[in-house]
Amino acid sequence: MGANNLTVLGSTGSIGVSTLDVIRSHPQRFQVFALGANLQVDRMFEQCIEFTPQYAVLRDHAAANTLKQRLNDAGSSTEVLAGDEGLIDIAGATDSHTVMAAIVGSAGLDATLSAVRAGKRVLLANKESLVMSGKLFTDAVNVSGAELLPIDSEHNAIFQCLPHDFSSLSSAGIRRILLTGSGGPFRETPLEELASKTPDQACSHPNWSMGRKISVDSATMMNKGLEFIEACWLFKAQPKDIEVVIHPQSIVHSMVEYLDGSVLAQMGMPDMRTPIANCLGWPERIETKVPSLDFYQLGRLDFSAPDYQRFPALRLSMHAMESALDYPVALNAANEIAVDAFLSETICFTQIAEIIEETLNNWQSSEPDSLEAVKDSDLRARQYAAQRVNKRKLQ
Ligand code: NAD
Ligand code: MG
Repeated sequence: MGANNLTVLGSTGSIGVSTLDVIRSHPQRFQVFALGANLQVDRMFEQCIEFTPQYAVLRDHAAANTLKQRLNDAGSSTEVLAGDEGLIDIAGATDSHTVMAAIVGSAGLDATLSAVRAGKRVLLANKESLVMSGKLFTDAVNVSGAELLPIDSEHNAIFQCLPHDFSSLSSAGIRRILLTGSGGPFRETPLEELASKTPDQACSHPNWSMGRKISVDSATMMNKGLEFIEACWLFKAQPKDIEVVIHPQSIVHSMVEYLDGSVLAQMGMPDMRTPIANCLGWPERIETKVPSLDFYQLGRLDFSAPDYQRFPALRLSMHAMESALDYPVALNAANEIAVDAFLSETICFTQIAEIIEETLNNWQSSEPDSLEAVKDSDLRARQYAAQRVNKRKLQ
């Protein structure tokens, strides 16, 4: 098993591209074993030519065929696979040591779990998979001995502020976790204007450049809600142990407060290459092209409490975690349907949270004790949320 043989799931996306950018600066240290994505042939072709992976997978079969043809014509030796099975196979393949799990949304669940079950070092960007299957996921980590390292900037910050031998909040002497969030592009927008915000406006995040789904999640603060749930699972925390703090500059990426009153914060430029490099190099530090923080330029950092009237999705997420069972599955599924509908301009911005709330209010909960049960809840919630979208479409 090559120590630095890497698989990047979601290689054509924002996190995937940033991951390959870090790897590009360390050619002696990392070798790309496999790349996986949905259907972006051009970008995947370029990545295969540059990083010469043993395997490239596109979920879409027609796109995979086109890629295969183009790589053949270019004399590449990369083998092309297709479909969800291909993604699951490269995630669990014995020849790779580390898997970057950066497929967006519930689509990443199977491949991420495959890497976890195979006992890999899993660099977790795909927060939705942990939100959906928290208990199953963490049980699988314990059984396989997989090493789970958080890529999400907040969770990576918390991880960096914990002792290396962390096993629980109480044994580490931790009073609370402070999860920071910028408040997104609509933090100060008059409430009555929110309904008319367009997908492009929602995707114009003031500090971070990200994929469209997580950008919309940041505008509704559903992203912070999903991260709240993610933090509960990653750090064995109860909802009461985590406080969300609005911090518009995105310089403090999160904090840990200890019993003696000490608060440790991790800071840096809002650039995902920092947490990615932290996990890729762990436990060593490796160089990135991320510029130094200029404190003279920054001048000040601001903090405030979240406004739940403005960001109902955040409150709904906290309730879903407190309600446990498969409420987080329903929350995530309804959000994915609502965000898709908003991005295709079928519903308006404020209807995203309405659809999630209606789905949760009408949810018949069950115990998500198997992958099948999780997928069943996911499908049920999608169907319900899609009905609510259709009802609005017809109005
Ligand atoms: P993105 O939309 O830019 O990229 C998504 C990637 O997933 C692409 O490579 C795409 O091909 C692939 N993909 C989409 N659907 C797929 C499917 N059905 N099967 C296989 N592959 C599929 O998204 P992103 O911003 O890179 O986010 C990826 C994940 O990382 C998300 O879970 C997000 O919440 C998380 N994350 C992102 C950031 C960020 O700064 N972008 C920060 C923290 C966490
Ligand atoms: Mg984050």
